[in-house]
Amino acid sequence: MKKTDLELGMGRDITRRDFIHDTSLAALGLSLPLGVYACSDHGQAGQYYPPTRTGMRGSHPGAFESAHALAREGMSFPPPNDLDETYDLVVVGGGISGLAAAQYYQKKFGRNVRILILENHDDFGGHAKRNEFHQGGQMRLALGGTHNLEYWQFSDTVNALMDELGIEIEDMLRHKEFGYGRNGRNGPAVWFDAETYGQNKLLTGVDFSEPDPEKLAAWIDEFPLSEEARGQLKRFVAMRTNVLEGMSEADAEAYVHGTRYVDFLREHGGLGDEAIQFFDSADDGGWGVQTRSLSVAECVWERMPGRQLLGEDLAGETFGYNPAMFPDGNASLARLQVHALIPNVAPGTNANNVAVAEFDYDQLDRAENTVRLRLNSTVVNAANTGSGVSVTYIKDDKALRVKSRHCVMACYHAIIPHLCPDLPEAQKEAQKYQVKRPLLLTNVLIRSSAAMDKLGIAGARCPGRMHNSVFMFKGINTGGFEHKFADDGPVAMTFWGTIAPPAEVVELNDQMRASRAKMLALKFEDYEREVRIVLRDMLGPAGFDVEEDVLAIMVNRWPHGYSHDYLDLWDPDWPEGEAPHLLASRPFGNITMANADAGADAYTHVAIDEAYRAVQELS
Ligand SMILES: Cc1cc2nc3c(=O)[nH]c(=O)nc-3n(C[C@H](O)[C@H](O)[C@H](O)COP(=O)(O)OP(=O)(O)OC[C@H]3O[C@@H](n4cnc5c(N)ncnc54)[C@H](O)[C@@H]3O)c2cc1C
Repeated sequence: MKKTDLELGMGRDITRRDFIHDTSLAALGLSLPLGVYACSDHGQAGQYYPPTRTGMRGSHPGAFESAHALAREGMSFPPPNDLDETYDLVVVGGGISGLAAAQYYQKKFGRNVRILILENHDDFGGHAKRNEFHQGGQMRLALGGTHNLEYWQFSDTVNALMDELGIEIEDMLRHKEFGYGRNGRNGPAVWFDAETYGQNKLLTGVDFSEPDPEKLAAWIDEFPLSEEARGQLKRFVAMRTNVLEGMSEADAEAYVHGTRYVDFLREHGGLGDEAIQFFDSADDGGWGVQTRSLSVAECVWERMPGRQLLGEDLAGETFGYNPAMFPDGNASLARLQVHALIPNVAPGTNANNVAVAEFDYDQLDRAENTVRLRLNSTVVNAANTGSGVSVTYIKDDKALRVKSRHCVMACYHAIIPHLCPDLPEAQKEAQKYQVKRPLLLTNVLIRSSAAMDKLGIAGARCPGRMHNSVFMFKGINTGGFEHKFADDGPVAMTFWGTIAPPAEVVELNDQMRASRAKMLALKFEDYEREVRIVLRDMLGPAGFDVEEDVLAIMVNRWPHGYSHDYLDLWDPDWPEGEAPHLLASRPFGNITMANADAGADAYTHVAIDEAYRAVQELS
């Protein structure tokens, strides 16, 4: 191990390595120091409980290899063994959409229907993955994927499902103190790192939606950029003009939707490369693509600076993003759905205790249940048989086949052509159009929030680093869980963003594929080194000891993250009814298509709406 790695604490025993996954608490207690013992797998010896697994999560090793062998290498599998199992419905994918499809199927066809949900990961929920740490007798929860509920966009269908699950949005909002790191004592912060900017520098209170250019200029003066770049930024934020002046409404629309934001910054904002770099990754978590691929409209809509050049008055603007949240993100929603389908998994669970309810995974796949949820099972074929559907999946390297009357594909659309090769060619092409956006969420349990508290921050943007932002994940006291913002004990630090594709890759889908390839090629140690560098250099000056204070790490990589929503600069205006997602999600015999991909929009409520539609199409 290199000296610098030792200084970063890379040699320390933390709960990060895959090999300690299913080890019992007692066994770990024999071999690891106390702090580590306390944040190991939770539960009875040998109990299967994936939320506490550390190391590489999200798309974890073992989850994707069969699908990649099929889709990338065209591999065919040995003839399957036919199981003596017949269902009314097989659902492919145990994410929120697949779980909702099972719920809607019960409603449509009766509570006694037999349903099998097949999921390739070791846990249910899909992107809505629960990360659960245990430290010093306390449980800490974190976001493994899907964060929150954007309730203001809910349809009646989604609202009805929320009601049924007992989810009360107003109540959830009342119990939320968390604000994605913007709610530190000193407001939003930016951390400039030495590797990118020549010095480590943390600036607090930096808010680019601030309308007062003098305040902005004072912050910009502190940026570790060249004098020229700082001057450009100061002039830019002080400009008040309207580049759309004199244009017809149609031309103005065409301009803001047809012009790259970075070209706009360059041409009208007077910014050069160095100043523009500051914004490169600003939308990694929002759109899941680099700023260079977004239009003016898409960036200013996300509150990036520039509206002052479009004739808009910024006075009175405040940042107003206030979604409802569970302390493990939408994993609690998935848990409520699973409980509704298989009540024995956690008897007595409701929306007010779901985050702390104990889930017994042994109950998920029992022959006596009408609904079975089978994990670690990758579907490789689904075929109409005339009377129904046959579905083949790989589990423990064996090919197995079940029969069903209906099948809902609630998995990523781009894999469906490989699972259903008999689909019409045009539909397969439309499904392949869904190239999802890679995303990264690395959670690090640290000993205490003391250093962040001392700095007066709750998170920071890190424009030069792999993860674009980092925030303390606490202050969401819903689902029966409590971790108050004032609690200065162990806390999960969430590193959020994506892996930037190489600058020379231009075409959007090539960017996504390049980002995905990088994400899969990086080892756990690469992610670990990265978060340790940031923690050491950002929090070290406030007393954070990177060797001692890092307790556990969960890397949630999502090579297939956000669904592709149509982007101004990359997607044509499809004629009414002809957009690829509509063609992709047409029914095919007894097989219908759900997933957020079917709505071409990366939202939980879309995943639910699409599940509803997919089930209504079955007869
Ligand atoms: C990091 C991240 C953060 C997000 N944050 C938010 C947010 O805050 N709010 C929001 O509304 N949305 C968010 N999203 C979008 C998210 O995709 C949706 O909200 C929702 O969780 C999607 O549910 P789904 O069931 O459609 O898809 P998924 O969650 O992707 O579920 C599909 C499942 O099918 C499985 N599958 C695929 N192929 C197969 C196969 N061959 N066999 C068996 N199983 C298969 C997949 O592995 C997956 O588990 C986020 C997404 C990511 C990745």
